[in-house]
Amino acid sequence: MSTLFVSDLHLEADRPDIGEQFVNFLKTDAMEADDLYILGDLFEAWVGDDDPNTHYSKIKRTLRKVVDKGIPVYFMHGNRDFMIGRHFANETGVEILPDPYPIQMYGQKALLSHGDAMCTDDVQYQRVRLMTRNPDWQASMLAKPLKERLLIAREARRQSMEQTINMSLDIMDVNKDEVVRVIREYGVDVLVHGHTHRPDVHTVDLGNRKAKRIVLGDWYTQGSVLRWDLRGPKLQEMPR
Ligand code: MN
Repeated sequence: MSTLFVSDLHLEADRPDIGEQFVNFLKTDAMEADDLYILGDLFEAWVGDDDPNTHYSKIKRTLRKVVDKGIPVYFMHGNRDFMIGRHFANETGVEILPDPYPIQMYGQKALLSHGDAMCTDDVQYQRVRLMTRNPDWQASMLAKPLKERLLIAREARRQSMEQTINMSLDIMDVNKDEVVRVIREYGVDVLVHGHTHRPDVHTVDLGNRKAKRIVLGDWYTQGSVLRWDLRGPKLQEMPR
């Protein structure tokens, strides 16, 4: 038995192969797991739980099956699907976690995060993040007709693509000092996050001790999963 961690699937109707791989993953790997953590950006965009997109319905139904089998599924918001709300949680049975979220894994302390909050070098993005995570901003967004929200989301993605195309890769990565600060604040042995799409296991030197930073991969060309069992955490690629 093991605990599974995934992130950055960016599921959308235009890329049904990723959705299919994730559904298969839920029906096989997840069904044999102790629990499953989805650390953000499960969906490429989320404009509200009332979006009737049929591609999403299939994912939601399959998540429900995992939960109904008695396997806890946890979800943390990413920068694409931060509008996932209570209705989605009720429909799927998935529990929404705050970011960051500390857990115990076989005697080790781990901290889970999507990862975008640690990209502090991207000042402009952090400003947008602060605005869009504000409950008042979200309420005024959800008050708009679905059609308008879909248009706004499309435009936001186009703008973000334009802005990031000329941005250095360093700026879009997590800030090393912020990583050290967060690990110290929570006193953890392992930090697990996604968002940067740079799957890797890093050693973080804290001076008096060392910690581990595990970065989950995206699902664009293959699947990526962190399996954590008695023997420890193992980051794996899953060929499509
Ligand atoms: Mn992200």
